Amino acid sequence: MKKLENRVALVTGASRGIGAAIAERLAEEGAHVAINYTSQRSLEKAEMLKEQIENRFNVRAMVVKANVGIKKEVDHMIDEVEQTLGNVDILVNNAGIAPFESFMKLTEETWDTTYQTNVKSIFLTSQRVAKKMIEKRYGKIINITSTASLLVTSPVIPHYISSKAAASHLTKALAIELGKYNININAVGPSTVATDMCQEYLEDPSILEKEIQANPMKRLGTEKQIADAVVFLASEEAMQINGHLLMVDGGLTVKAAQPEDHLEQERELLL
Ligand code: NAP
Repeated sequence: MKKLENRVALVTGASRGIGAAIAERLAEEGAHVAINYTSQRSLEKAEMLKEQIENRFNVRAMVVKANVGIKKEVDHMIDEVEQTLGNVDILVNNAGIAPFESFMKLTEETWDTTYQTNVKSIFLTSQRVAKKMIEKRYGKIINITSTASLLVTSPVIPHYISSKAAASHLTKALAIELGKYNININAVGPSTVATDMCQEYLEDPSILEKEIQANPMKRLGTEKQIADAVVFLASEEAMQINGHLLMVDGGLTVKAAQPEDHLEQERELLL
C-alpha cells in the first residue's frame, strides 16, 4: 500500500514550479490531487499536469481556479474539491509571490498583495478545511515558507521576507490550536530553487554562482526535494511532528552569513 493511498490533497499554486512537483509526488504516493492555479495563462499547464498525474499514477486529479487570498474564491474552490474528490485530508499552502521591489520603491498595493497571497491565504484555506478535519479527527496542513522565515536572505525584499516569517509563526499557532484534533500543521522552508519566481534574479551568472557558493552544499535546491519533504510530513511517519519548520536548504540557515554572501550588484537589480 502506498503512503498516502486514497487521501485527498489540495495543493495551492500547483500549475508550475514547486507546487507542481508537490502535486506529482503526492499523487505518486496514492493521493487524489486538486491542482489550484490563478492566472488564465496557467490553465493549460495545470490541465497538462492533471492529465499526466492521472495517466502515470492511477489516481483522480482535478484543476481548480482560485485566488487563494480571496475568501469567496477559496470557499468556492474547496466546495468544488469536496464535491469532486471528497473532503481534503492534506492541504499544502504553496501559492506565493515574491515581487522584486526594493523597500524605498515598494507600493502599498505590492505590500497588500504579498501578504494576501503569502499569509492571508493560509488563514482562509486552513480555516475552511479544518472544519471537516476536526469532524474527521484527521488532517495534515503543510505550509511552504522559506529560508526567509528565519533569516534576511538575498535578495532583500522586506515584504516577502516578513510575510514568510509571518507564515512560519502562523504555522506554529495553528499547530497548537488544532493539534488536539489530530491535525498536524507544519512548514517546509526551501532555499533558492530555480523556478519562474527566481528566473529574473538568477539570470545573472554571477548571482547564480553566489547563490551556489553561499549554500553549504554548494548547489541550489530542487522542486523534488521540497516535494519529498512534503510527502514525509503528510505521511503517518510524521504523525508526532507538529508546529515544525523543516528547512530543506542545504544547511543555509544554520550558517552565519558571510560578507561575500551579499552582492552589491544584486541591490542594483532591485533599486
Ligand atoms: P512560482 O514558480 O512563481 O509559482 C507560483 C505558483 O503560485 C503558481 O502556480 C501561481 O499560479 C501560484 N499563485 C500565485 N499567486 C496565487 C494566488 N493569489 N492564488 C493562487 N495561486 C497563486 O513559485 P515557486 O518558486 O514554485 O514557489 C512556490 C512556493 O515556494 C512559494 O510560496 C514561494 O514563496 C516558496 N519558495 C520558493 C523558493 C524559490 O527559490 N523558488 C524559495 C523559498 C520558498 P499561476 O501559475 O496561476 O500564476
